[in-house]
Amino acid sequence: MSFARIAGAALLLAVLATAATAQPTVSDLPQLGPRAAPTAHVQVGSLPSMDTTPAFNPVQATDKYLSRISGAVRARSDAYFEGGYWLQLLDLVYALGLAGLLLWSGISVRIQDWAEERSHGRSYQVIFYVAAYVPLIAAATFPLTVYEGFFREHAYGLSNQTFWQWLGDFGIQFALTFAALMIVLPLLYLAIRRTREMWWLWGAGLAIAFQILTIAIWPAFIAPLFNHYSPLPDSPLKTQILSLARANDVPADNVWLVDASRQSNRVSANVSGFLGTARISLNDNLLKQGSPDEVLAVLGHEMGHYVMGHVTREILLGGLVILLGFAFVHWGFLFACELFGGQWQVRKISEVAGLPLLMALGSLFLFLATPVTNSISRTAEYQADIFGLNAVRKPDAFASVMLKLSTYRKLEPGRLEEIIFYDHPSGRTRIAAAMRWKKEHIADADIRDTAQLP
Ligand SMILES: [Zn+2]
Repeated sequence: MSFARIAGAALLLAVLATAATAQPTVSDLPQLGPRAAPTAHVQVGSLPSMDTTPAFNPVQATDKYLSRISGAVRARSDAYFEGGYWLQLLDLVYALGLAGLLLWSGISVRIQDWAEERSHGRSYQVIFYVAAYVPLIAAATFPLTVYEGFFREHAYGLSNQTFWQWLGDFGIQFALTFAALMIVLPLLYLAIRRTREMWWLWGAGLAIAFQILTIAIWPAFIAPLFNHYSPLPDSPLKTQILSLARANDVPADNVWLVDASRQSNRVSANVSGFLGTARISLNDNLLKQGSPDEVLAVLGHEMGHYVMGHVTREILLGGLVILLGFAFVHWGFLFACELFGGQWQVRKISEVAGLPLLMALGSLFLFLATPVTNSISRTAEYQADIFGLNAVRKPDAFASVMLKLSTYRKLEPGRLEEIIFYDHPSGRTRIAAAMRWKKEHIADADIRDTAQLP
């Protein structure tokens, strides 16, 4: 999905997101300490009058976990993640520059004329234009794509692919994108011609419908083009996973193992699909690098996404962003054409020669909307963390596996940095949540023995 947003709404959402993430830190305040003690007293009232609640300091425990990743390893993952911020800006500047080049040089109008000569109806003209435009853009951005997707990943030791394997995946991605745009863009221009001033509402509807369709067919038709999915192999761990799934009303046949090591050594898992196609995928890197408890801790998180209907949440909130995006593109187009339409020979949105401008405005909106889209994702991820902690009850396994994610995500960002750039909570936030959970459960039979950890 890819389009747009507005400063006011972003600000509002960012503030809301800040409020949401600020909430948890309340229980880190010292006044909770004294309150916890009397409760424990009541519980152990029948025992020989002694408070057996072990001492546990969640702040110290969090710092202790975080200190395990330090020195060169820490510097490397920080550099990888921070470099990503600049790449987002570079991608935008490059995309805008390319669009400007196509418009000011007259190339876009020439492609439009070429398409017109070869086609009878307006829809065919759009199809011919798109057939030339998409490969042109892919070729022009290829050096950047290769650097970001292949060389940089290898430089940070994250990729397991040879160049040809990477190129194969890129080829599949390009073919899918090309096919999708050949269908969606002619439909969009049809909507523009038919509905005129209201086109952006129809365009947003089209984009949302297309997004839902993509999410629904992803697990069965698209994901298998890149990876192999299989049922989890039998093991005591599988028995535990299936029990966890039953306890949380997640259909067991929805838990799969994916050979993510085909592409990289990143530890991860995810929930994909929608309604009947929803599926939890555990990646083989996690199975290889994690302890059984760590795998369970991650799957508890993924089951949280499933149980709390986060795909639906994403579609609804993402739909709002898309709607704002199309509004931004609509008024942005009118504004830009007012200024430069004469030089570009583009007067109306219905002229396909204006497609580079539509795309440029879409890229600009998405860039500006990054804090909002990231916050939509990050708040759901945090909910899933809490769900997983409650369901699995292994805060230390959760904390240690979070350190394993730090190969590709900076562990301790600043507060604003986390809101703007993080689509998942930072390692510090997630480990702090786990340790806070542990403190509140330290008197429980299954948790008290772990009080000396980490
Ligand atoms: Zn998640």
